[in-house]
Amino acid sequence: NEEKPLNFIEEIIEEDLRKGKHDGRVLTRFPPEPNGYLHIGHAKSICLNFGLAQKYNGKTNLRFDDTNPVTEDTEYVDSIKQDIQWLGFQWAEELYTSDYFETLYTYAIDLIQKGLAYVDDSTSEQIAASKGTPTEPGVPTPYRNRSIEENLKLFQEMREGKYKDGEKVLRAKIDLASPNMHLRDPLLYRIKHASHHRTGDKWCIYPMYDFAHGQSDSIEKVTHSICTLEFIPHRPLYDWLIEKLEIFPSKQYEFARLNMTYTVMSKRKLLQLVKEKYVESWDDPRMPTISGLRRRGYTPGSIRNFAERIGVQKRENMIDVGLLEFCIREDLNATAWRRMAVLNPIKLVITNYPDGQTEELIGENNPEVEGGEGSRVLPFSKELWIERDDFMEEPPKKFFRLGPGLSVRLKHAYIVQCHDFVKDEDGNVSEIHCTYVPNSKSGEDTSGLKVKGTIHWVSVAHAQEAEVRLYDRLFNEENPAAAEDFKASINPNSLQIINKAYIEPDLATAEAGKGYQFIRLGYFTLDSKSTAAHLVFNRTVTLKDSWAK
Ligand code: ATP
Ligand code: MG
Ligand code: MG
Repeated sequence: NEEKPLNFIEEIIEEDLRKGKHDGRVLTRFPPEPNGYLHIGHAKSICLNFGLAQKYNGKTNLRFDDTNPVTEDTEYVDSIKQDIQWLGFQWAEELYTSDYFETLYTYAIDLIQKGLAYVDDSTSEQIAASKGTPTEPGVPTPYRNRSIEENLKLFQEMREGKYKDGEKVLRAKIDLASPNMHLRDPLLYRIKHASHHRTGDKWCIYPMYDFAHGQSDSIEKVTHSICTLEFIPHRPLYDWLIEKLEIFPSKQYEFARLNMTYTVMSKRKLLQLVKEKYVESWDDPRMPTISGLRRRGYTPGSIRNFAERIGVQKRENMIDVGLLEFCIREDLNATAWRRMAVLNPIKLVITNYPDGQTEELIGENNPEVEGGEGSRVLPFSKELWIERDDFMEEPPKKFFRLGPGLSVRLKHAYIVQCHDFVKDEDGNVSEIHCTYVPNSKSGEDTSGLKVKGTIHWVSVAHAQEAEVRLYDRLFNEENPAAAEDFKASINPNSLQIINKAYIEPDLATAEAGKGYQFIRLGYFTLDSKSTAAHLVFNRTVTLKDSWAK
């Protein structure tokens, strides 16, 4: 049980606990905007926020940051909840920023009454100009010195729907010369006549992120509000608002967001891939979404483990997607049951095996575990499917599979030797003829023969058919988001469909959500849309990292 060094957020929390801050209470929150499905970057934030609460006997709220009525939807709310629970976490409370709209409105009035906010009638261009540039201070608009009474009246009218979208905004009155642009009288409210997925048409003014996020943290008495680095320049405003409103002093801390090679991670881009049909859906197994990874065969443990390994940094970085693949490979190597499937079949006939006979051979489920986790029956007969690649008409020297005169072991079965093959009219090999060695059965081999290679097989008479989908990376560029058009580097061969593969009969009852190692081929899982009448398997990951750098 080796001690891991604390990350910088854990150090902050432990220091707070030592000082008795917040009576030793730790409350974090995960605040998704319900405008898309969660992705692996969100998983990092979920593991961090929920993990910290678990470690320090605290709690985590799930708060839907639903202040933008136009892009949000309950479909996303439901998927987000499902994904968090699937990852293995449970929130203390399910909350919505929209539930605070009334409180936030009273906070705005409080600021107006303190002379710290004003209604501005300028256009968005005029407001942008009023803020100046990083090197030049801003200039007040003609509305900056409105009286408190006038501001109160106009803000009330904004709420009542008297004005059109964009006609007026509420701004904080801070400092137009601040070196921090976010403090140059930032917007607090805007008018938007749009129906909200929860509050319907009750509101036509909506708070801006900066006037909702910290205030929501404070309402919930969140102790450690953890967000990504882009929000560092927002922190002075976060603190200013809490101080001026004299509300619970939540604190914001920032960590580096997850960026991963060969992956795009913004919801806007992911939505584009779905809408423009580059992928089938949000849960397409090539997507970096949690639902896509689940359908691909990733386990919650492998994702939590990945989050643990990448840790928490204060500086932007790029994580190799190979690390995520390593984590699932490691998990599945330990847990996946071994099975046999033939993806590119050719028939092997055992000429000295009795016609019509079937033997029930036994194969352990998991050689990585003491006792093998039980076993399954493997029917064996005269005709088998093997991989076309496992035979060569003119094999080179070190080819330890089949070719004229060559011997190989059939996994969990017998040693066979090839003595002939048949070609079809196009000159392609269509059948391989072998003899088997009756006393070479695995586990009770008395033949004394030594063979170097072992290959997988499926009995022709007992094989089931399945569709098998082989996935590859969705992008060919290491950093697709850095290009002008991220779609330019989409890998046209990211999905290869094998319409008719042969699988051993036991796989007909494969369980959804379980990983299987197809011996020598990779790790696979049943697709969530597979049916008994049409079995579909997705390749989660190859057995080894086959990607040339
Ligand atoms: P996107 O850019 O994908 O739209 P977002 O930050 O707008 O992401 P939110 O729904 O607001 O999406 O994110 C919820 C939480 O997840 C936020 O606290 C955010 O910091 C965190 N988060 C989002 N993307 C990442 C990432 N790539 N790495 C780590 N945390 C992330
Ligand atoms: Mg956000
Ligand atoms: Mg976003």
